[in-house]
Amino acid sequence: MNKISDYPIQIKEIIRVSTLLYERNLVSAAGGNVSERTEEGILITGSNVSLREVRQNDLVLCSLQNEVIDARPKLRPSKEIKFHLGIYKIRPSIKCIIHAHPCYSILCSSIYNELPLYTQSAKLKLIHVPVIPEGKPGSMELADKVVSTIKAQPDEIKAFLMEGHGIIAIGNTMKEALNQAELLEDSCKIAVFQKLLSEK
Ligand SMILES: [Zn+2]
Repeated sequence: MNKISDYPIQIKEIIRVSTLLYERNLVSAAGGNVSERTEEGILITGSNVSLREVRQNDLVLCSLQNEVIDARPKLRPSKEIKFHLGIYKIRPSIKCIIHAHPCYSILCSSIYNELPLYTQSAKLKLIHVPVIPEGKPGSMELADKVVSTIKAQPDEIKAFLMEGHGIIAIGNTMKEALNQAELLEDSCKIAVFQKLLSEK
């Protein structure tokens, strides 16, 4: 397999989750990116493509060595492909990655070293939320920080805050990655309101 069209199920999942991320305000403008593992590498949303309007020809098929295998002319993969590839290399069971910029998560990434989890659901499913230190978007420096933070965590940790930037949610399925992303943002919203209420 060496064409984007060889992966109809993954294409459908990426388009569906991209639309949901936009509609749920987890990303805006051309922010965020989504990828899914394939036989020879990954399918990832293209650079400067808004998740609001992702179509099949906005996706790029890349090898695990970051070589473009199939894409429409002039379309590059998301500039954050470096950390997507890094995560797939260190977590062989992971099939899907979501990177988004939700407001409450960004707020919490700057406030907390350890995000307080208030709900049973968050304690059970997020367990603990590591914060990835700040790095320039799209840089190898940021990709290295992402990979070293995730590598230091057990496999059941699947949601991460990125300092001053956003979130990364990973899963064995797209549904799992989306559940982690939504639960993380809801948990951050609760943490922000809890902090505000406790300061009155
Ligand atoms: Zn970003």
